Amino acid sequence: MAKPELMDYEAALAKYEPVIGLEVHVELSTRTKMFSPTPNPARGEQGEAEPNTFIGPVDLGLPGTLPVVNAEAVEYSIRLGLALGCEIAEESGFARKNYFYPDNPKNYQISQYDDPIAFDGSVEVELGDGTVFHVPIERAHMEEDAGKLTHVGGGAGRIQGAESSLVDYNRAGVPLVEIVTKPIFGGEERTPELAAAYVSVIRDIVRALGVSEARMERGNLRCDANVSLRPRGQEALGIRTETKNVNSFRSIERAVRYEIQRQAAILEAGGTVTQETRHWHEDTGRTSPGRVKSDADDYRYFPEPDLMPLRPDRAFVDELRAALPEQPVLRRRRLKEAWGFGDQEFQDIVNAGLLDAVDATVAAGATAAGAKKWWMGPLSRLANEQQVEPASLATPEQIAGIEQLISDGVVNDKLARQVLDGVLAGEGTPAEVVEARGLAVVSDDGALIEAVDAALAAQPDVLEKIRDGKVQAAGAIIGAVMKAMQGKADAARVRELILERAAQ
Ligand code: ADP
Ligand code: MG
Repeated sequence: MAKPELMDYEAALAKYEPVIGLEVHVELSTRTKMFSPTPNPARGEQGEAEPNTFIGPVDLGLPGTLPVVNAEAVEYSIRLGLALGCEIAEESGFARKNYFYPDNPKNYQISQYDDPIAFDGSVEVELGDGTVFHVPIERAHMEEDAGKLTHVGGGAGRIQGAESSLVDYNRAGVPLVEIVTKPIFGGEERTPELAAAYVSVIRDIVRALGVSEARMERGNLRCDANVSLRPRGQEALGIRTETKNVNSFRSIERAVRYEIQRQAAILEAGGTVTQETRHWHEDTGRTSPGRVKSDADDYRYFPEPDLMPLRPDRAFVDELRAALPEQPVLRRRRLKEAWGFGDQEFQDIVNAGLLDAVDATVAAGATAAGAKKWWMGPLSRLANEQQVEPASLATPEQIAGIEQLISDGVVNDKLARQVLDGVLAGEGTPAEVVEARGLAVVSDDGALIEAVDAALAAQPDVLEKIRDGKVQAAGAIIGAVMKAMQGKADAARVRELILERAAQ
């Protein structure tokens, strides 16, 4: 009988303790590349660039060129290091990591080796149910990104079976910070969730700092997930695998869970896990072997002779520390409390990526419930249909403006939807749309009384019912008046008028 490929998750957890380590690469959104004056394609305003249009002699490793450290990238890295609770090295240097691969024109990558710019930090991660973990950070070091290979002609995009490969050097030399955690213990059955939550906190941190676009689907933020198991009671760590470039939170969670079950099945059958990189396959929900990797991968690191070590001025580091934005975890806690939402309600907003939009809408004067209603409701639906971000559809001020019209009684909820349509169609401010489309509710008694009397005449039994105590019968008249006035009647006033008539 063939060995089962996966062990049942609960059974695996009962027998083995999962340990993970996460490596997150963050592409910085500096104006230029890490070591050259070439504009940086990872910066927000650059859309999809044509291949090999963001390149220069340094990025291509042409003879006679020399690297120059990008001061902005150093500043971004220090701010990121500080936000991760790290120490900032008094002195840190660059090293050459030597390897041949066509995406790496110099045949070495400039990175940092034994003296990273930031080390020994800690990041607070809160799971959906409010449990808090402190993830220990080993280091955050600077390096340059490599180019990108596209394998064509068979092989479904993989190098195996491809006829040829195309190389795009736009990404070569883009500034990166690699954030490496220490081994993370204690996640137990929630280890996959913890892995994904950690990466989402990193995304929030880099976004709050404004140092990266942090869009996983674009590769601005990439995660390699190391996973190992050790039999319960054993001190020594198990052999790890490193699943590369998992590019969504959900995939991180699935990949870690899969590896736990896969490694458990191997150990359970008396086998040994191979220390290797693995690839995650979104379609099949499985990982497959990459390359075998020993701890002592011989990259022949040596100090980069063309660059001086960095000795950041301490006063400057202190200035950057003092100017750090509020920590995302603390901000979430503060907002959740202020808005009075439950765990799930709040988490839904976070998961939808709408925290900033709701926050800004509340700041512009809306209630939290009102802001949430628009962003999570119609705006999310429209954004989904149009495959865009909700925040690109409307501004917080526009949404707060519509909410204001509702609370002032100028429009009701239904009419407000039409106001939104007008605003999204570029017809002006919410107030202008109300004016131009004639959407204001009618609370002028003259027009309302006329409509109420007409409706009562058409349903003569209603007044009798109300007088008999069946007040809900007024609903039919309110509905009729609404219909007659194209939804623009002030429903509360209509109700009062009906009750007045019944009392006569
Ligand atoms: P590599 O060069 O293999 O990428 P790094 O030091 O950059 O190594 O990252 C290794 C990551 O794996 C770190 O996050 C580390 O904490 C984690 N790690 C190391 N050993 C184990 C293990 N046995 N199980 C799980 N994670 C581990
Ligand atoms: Mg690594």
